[in-house]
Amino acid sequence: MPIVSSVLQQQQLPHSPSPVSNQSLLPQRSSVTRGKYSITDFEIKRTLGTGSFGRVHLVRSKYNRLYYAMKVLKKAQVVRMKQVEHTNDERRMLKLVDHPFLIRIWGTFQDSHNLFMVMDYVEGGELFSLLRRSQRFPNPVAKFYAAQVTLALEYLHSHDIIYRDLKPENILLDRKGHIRITDFGFAKEVPDVTYTMCGTPDYIAPEVIARKAYNKSVDWWSLGILIFEMLTGYTPFYDQTPMRTYEKVLQCDVRYPNYILPEARDLLSNLITRDLTRRLGNLANGPSDVKNHPWFAEVDWERVLSKRIDTPYEPPIRHAGDASLFEHYPEEELDYGITTQDEYGYLFIDF
Ligand code: AMP
Repeated sequence: MPIVSSVLQQQQLPHSPSPVSNQSLLPQRSSVTRGKYSITDFEIKRTLGTGSFGRVHLVRSKYNRLYYAMKVLKKAQVVRMKQVEHTNDERRMLKLVDHPFLIRIWGTFQDSHNLFMVMDYVEGGELFSLLRRSQRFPNPVAKFYAAQVTLALEYLHSHDIIYRDLKPENILLDRKGHIRITDFGFAKEVPDVTYTMCGTPDYIAPEVIARKAYNKSVDWWSLGILIFEMLTGYTPFYDQTPMRTYEKVLQCDVRYPNYILPEARDLLSNLITRDLTRRLGNLANGPSDVKNHPWFAEVDWERVLSKRIDTPYEPPIRHAGDASLFEHYPEEELDYGITTQDEYGYLFIDF
């Protein structure tokens, strides 16, 4: 039983039969990662997104003609921003995870100045763009995406991985409209607790700001913020500076608009709570408390996981390698492929 029907305004195009970016027809992971890639294996098409340490390009393999997303990080920048450990963790986590709602990585390599990660290209753009275009999602649409995110978090936590950067910018939509979470830049294997301050101000949990020891509970807080933002179109602690946002997070005074249904409000108030003994996902039953919450009552979790469910929005992808659903970024001159003096290579030996 689908939990949502096509409720968003959309322009649906018939699916191209082209196998080019059809994930089920991609070669098996083992056959691709056997050898090392190099930058000369790819044609660089355009920029799909930028981050603090580099950018993500749409690329095309010169060999199998398939499209991929290639994340490039500048070593010097990673070192300057003290992100060496996070970057090595990102690579390690991506290699480890294997789940329908998480991005797949195919290989990594480096040159003298840059680190490269080759991933599936997820063509449908960011959930963020869809949300801004829609202003806010109807309750069933928010529920659809929240259910997929919940399963992804459940999987990560079962492997002792905290994700730490949940937000609509990091949730991509595949060509059918199912999610793929990208950007494992803050993901970390944490069997017990950790202390590092990281995340995005609007989504960061109070225990992180307060510099307390924290654990997986922070991802359940962020799920609450995500559901709130999907239902309202804004985050509950938004302010003009990160400092003021942090103050609001610590106060945790959430105003719920009256169009938020009682079940949704109940779930949100048990996710967006400072009280860790109340926060769902963090209690004795773990993620089951979230999945069994009345807001998710009609969700058939098996069907969600196996993608046997109608998606609320099918991105209008016109052809293989179509990047029209991504924002445009100014392109810059690239220094990829240089192999001269490598000042920082020793810090990234696994790449
Ligand atoms: P990141 O630095 O990993 O947060 O990536 C920055 C942006 O690049 C994301 O917000 C997406 O818009 C885009 N992006 C990242 N990974 C992919 C991917 N695998 N497929 C398509 N776009 C991506």
